[in-house]
Amino acid sequence: MKKSLVTGGAGFIGSFLCEHLLDAGHEVICLDNFFTGSKKNIEHLMDNPRFEIIRHDIVEPILLEVDWIFNFACPASPVHYQYNSVKTVKTCVMGTINLLGMAKRVKARILQSSTSEVYGDPEIHPQPETYWGSVNPIGIRSCYDEGKRVAETLMMDYYRQNNVDCKIIRIFNTYGPRMNLNDGRVVSNFIVAALKGEPLSIYGDGDQTRSFCYVDNLVDGIMKMMAKENFVGPVNLGNPGEFTIIELAQEVIKLTNSKSEIIREPKREDDPVRRKPDISLASKELGWKPTIQLEEGLKKTIDYFEKTLTKEAV
Ligand code: NAD
Ligand code: UDP
Repeated sequence: MKKSLVTGGAGFIGSFLCEHLLDAGHEVICLDNFFTGSKKNIEHLMDNPRFEIIRHDIVEPILLEVDWIFNFACPASPVHYQYNSVKTVKTCVMGTINLLGMAKRVKARILQSSTSEVYGDPEIHPQPETYWGSVNPIGIRSCYDEGKRVAETLMMDYYRQNNVDCKIIRIFNTYGPRMNLNDGRVVSNFIVAALKGEPLSIYGDGDQTRSFCYVDNLVDGIMKMMAKENFVGPVNLGNPGEFTIIELAQEVIKLTNSKSEIIREPKREDDPVRRKPDISLASKELGWKPTIQLEEGLKKTIDYFEKTLTKEAV
């Protein structure tokens, strides 16, 4: 039984992580500033005596005694991380320093949720962990991409300099229930639009690709990484199935039986052209690979959004 701190625990991935840890018998402190997270995501956990919630911003230091730290606090949708880009950098850099300081003080194990964005607009395909990336340091995505890269640097320096028990995962586009209706990322945008009979907007020509991982598979990978001894990473966690954004739009329209049309909007600045994880390292070190493919994961997610929209309409 471990005492875990999940920062960003009221967000999409963090809430599943809190739930999973409680189910496994651990104690969980969910820390969140509720910028993109919501109490609704964790309300079903609130009666559990092993669950606590703290409203706090990781940019400010905090003193807690825990065994495991999962750092998931950071807006992940471009719409939200660009809303206050300076704050995004502070969250990635000062927030990670604060949590590393905590890990050092109480000798906790700390896992950083890094991202496929550290590869930027990749020149190598699929992307292995050995690839250093191609990131614009001064663009509109840089607050997140470079913020997460510095967070990785900090993790490695605390590991080398202070022997902190650090772990880094690079998450590729993950989707599932509990994404916000207004999250702004492609899967939730398309599903919500299709269910409302509104047009699905494709940014650019729609030939750009992404690899979509269902959240349950990701949480399984996170837990395997946290339990693994003597393995810092970074390790890619993602589903290698690669789809163009047009293919995704067509699949969502088919699965929702929607009459929505597909429309074009201008390409977003610095939008990566393609992305697909090489997961050989995760497979070798963690024995992990995703099992839920796009159609099955989309059906579960559509089901969630259908219920959420019905509740909103009442
Ligand atoms: P999300 O926006 O749903 O969750 C982020 C959570 O962090 C929210 O609850 C938000 O309120 C909280 N938060 C933000 N800034 C904070 C701060 N300064 N202090 C305290 N709490 C703060 O996003 P998500 O998809 O659940 O992503 C969670 C983590 O996983 C993020 O760090 C993100 O970078 C990483 N990640 C996600 C994906 C993905 O596809 N979902 C991919 C790569 C990396
Ligand atoms: N995208 C789109 N329509 C939308 C939202 C996103 O065409 O309504 C595109 C976006 O330009 C990008 C891809 O879908 O090429 C994935 O975008 P998302 O914001 O989900 O994640 P990221 O770009 O960070 O991978």
